[in-house]
Amino acid sequence: MTKEKSGMEAKKAVLDKIKQYDKIVITRHLRPDGDAIGSTKGLCNALRLSFPNKDVRVINCDYSQHLAFLGSEDPQVDDSFYEDALAIIMDTATLDRVSNKKALLAKEIIKLDHHIEAESYGDVVWVEDYRSSVCEMVADLLKSFSNELRCDKQIATLVFAGMVTDSGRFQFAETSGDTLRLAGFLLDFGIDTTTLYANLYLEDFSFQKFKAKVIENMDITKNGVAYTYVSQNMQKELSLSNEQASCSVGFMDKIKGSLIWLAFIENDDGSTRVRLRSRFVTVNQLAQKYHGGGHAFASGATVYSEDEMKALIEDADSLLGQYKSNNGGWL
Ligand code: AMP
Repeated sequence: MTKEKSGMEAKKAVLDKIKQYDKIVITRHLRPDGDAIGSTKGLCNALRLSFPNKDVRVINCDYSQHLAFLGSEDPQVDDSFYEDALAIIMDTATLDRVSNKKALLAKEIIKLDHHIEAESYGDVVWVEDYRSSVCEMVADLLKSFSNELRCDKQIATLVFAGMVTDSGRFQFAETSGDTLRLAGFLLDFGIDTTTLYANLYLEDFSFQKFKAKVIENMDITKNGVAYTYVSQNMQKELSLSNEQASCSVGFMDKIKGSLIWLAFIENDDGSTRVRLRSRFVTVNQLAQKYHGGGHAFASGATVYSEDEMKALIEDADSLLGQYKSNNGGWL
């Protein structure tokens, strides 16, 4: 019950702070996913609709080609705009991952996030790490204050898109009864899910070929850590964006006995981005050991040499070995 109470207080503090400002800039993390884009644009449009006299903008310094169908963001503004503005930073545990660093110039900051608290920042903080997405929190805000905050089909679609993508179509462990009730609240605005899912999930022929290559190159350790390496060469050969290459982690998630799977994606500066995913076994501490962090079952890290990559794979293998020897019942 404490969680609910503090949640309601935090939500109320967020809305109260929003009401105090005429200018609001909303930003999110770099390399945005559906949750980052859906939550920022969804909240922005809801605030514009609810408070037509406020100047509300979503400003960032990068975007996602794949998610461009969700609509564009606003151009950068002069520093002076920020002086008396409120910044809302969403889906971002640490300030180094903020896409629009100018948000830090704002008079006050709201942190609105669902990641495990890694850095404390912001004048008003609403962080609930048990939530399946920040979009779920936005849906909650819209539903809880439906007498003051307006929503429509387009806003509902943006927020729902983030909920669907960040929860893996409502299959990840964080999906709760509340997640589905809030998704239902949004669906009632008449979302065209056929078009939304087509935009989100249909793939080019060449991407299907890339999937086949990743699976072919995949290896597995003795305890069941599946891993694959996507080199710069492969990315160039198949004309893959970094974002497309990063999807490779998702191709390894259906192997029996493999409770941890890793994608190593070579960056153009020689370092390698690691995407860690797991079932039952928590991997965020492992990610922290390799310059990263994240959620219990979905984390990110970076390795700077082949030796470091091997060490990470070995650590993941022992972690999984340990888990299997202490637990039964997994698949
Ligand atoms: P990714 O595989 O990059 O999508 O990362 C999965 C999750 O881990 C993301 O939701 C991020 O919150 C988190 N994450 C990724 N990279 C880092 C990092 N370098 N430091 C802290 N958290 C990270």
